[in-house]
Amino acid sequence: MFVYESDDDILVIDCGIDFPDETMPGVEVIVPDVSYLRDKVDKIRGVIITHGHVDHFGALPFVLPRIGNPPVYATRLVKGFIRVRLAEFAISRPKLRLIDPDDKSFNLGPFEILPFRVNHSVPDSIGLCLNTPAGKIFHVADFKFDLTPVDGRVFQIAKTARLAYPEVLALVSDCLGATTPGFTGSEREIEKIFSQIIREAEGQVFVTTVSSNISRFQQAIRVSLQHNRKIVILGRSVREKIEISRKLGYLKLNQSDFVSPQKARNLSQDKLTYLVAGSYGQPNSALARLAQGTYRDAKLEKGAVVIFSADPSPPGSREAMDLVVDNLTLKGARVHYYEIQENLHVSGHGSAGDIRLLFALVKPKYFIPIGGDPRHIRAYSFLAQEMGAKEDQVLELFNGEVVQFANNQAQMVGKIKVKGIPVKST
Ligand SMILES: [Zn+2]
Repeated sequence: MFVYESDDDILVIDCGIDFPDETMPGVEVIVPDVSYLRDKVDKIRGVIITHGHVDHFGALPFVLPRIGNPPVYATRLVKGFIRVRLAEFAISRPKLRLIDPDDKSFNLGPFEILPFRVNHSVPDSIGLCLNTPAGKIFHVADFKFDLTPVDGRVFQIAKTARLAYPEVLALVSDCLGATTPGFTGSEREIEKIFSQIIREAEGQVFVTTVSSNISRFQQAIRVSLQHNRKIVILGRSVREKIEISRKLGYLKLNQSDFVSPQKARNLSQDKLTYLVAGSYGQPNSALARLAQGTYRDAKLEKGAVVIFSADPSPPGSREAMDLVVDNLTLKGARVHYYEIQENLHVSGHGSAGDIRLLFALVKPKYFIPIGGDPRHIRAYSFLAQEMGAKEDQVLELFNGEVVQFANNQAQMVGKIKVKGIPVKST
């Protein structure tokens, strides 16, 4: 969560949850500490959500009521995801506003916001050019450059360069991939791998990925249909995301290509692909229960092929995933997962090459790495310095730290006390 503040106005960007590690038993999620905003609620003009990942919007149900329920701005698909999330927590009458990156700018107080499309592992992600009273700031949360995205919506590179003209005071951008050399691969590369595996499968096929990765599901659907397999969806998170994406036109899946789990039981299993929730091995997910033989809606048959198209990055997910892989293996499934090195996953985060390209397009005076751990932050710093920035032009920012922009300069001016708020599972 980022707060941009001028004299009488505040703009909030993103509002995500974090996940607990093994030292926090019973904690379901961690939400941002908004005590700094408590007596400034009247100044908040809006919250902008850059993309549809829960670590960027998942805390809205907890935070909105504490900050006076300001309007929330997001692109169409992200707005759909947010609506479902808020309904889950019975947040009534949220003020959701649409951002269209192909449209013109909009204003929130003294901030003029000019969105542009970026690529990431969820469709409809945006970067922001903010014209602020102190100068022009680019805020680019999770991004990569994908010239062949599955949905055909390429990073608006020319628009970004145009918006950056003639000068940019600061670029605040994703650094998570800074330690990875080269450019991040295109999402489209996954389709070939899916095709090889699904073509050779003789019985059931199960595909799991992060539920918001609509392009990944689209590729699994496309390949399955090519091999005369109809689609079955198992698990609430995947069903919800696929339904919204279909409804809003972000996923192509005809009603006739889709079979309910009940109907699927009576069909020949080699004519089906199951899209299933639980890519991180979550213990209550459809896939974990299938692996234990306790899932009501479907049964895993001996010889089934299971594709995990995800990297176990959240804390604890590797162990959870390994357990599910073991259980699936014992049930006679052939499991394709991260250890097998089949390139079943490409990152949604730009690598060093993508980050350098963004630097070249935006040409900021100051660089502020976000979204990474200290090692990524430092690697991003080096990338900026390799491209001519001086050490004091990169501001390595940690939780609660404040940067002041004034007189065409940026400097760190202190720290606000913040502490992630743990939310216990109910
Ligand atoms: Zn993301």
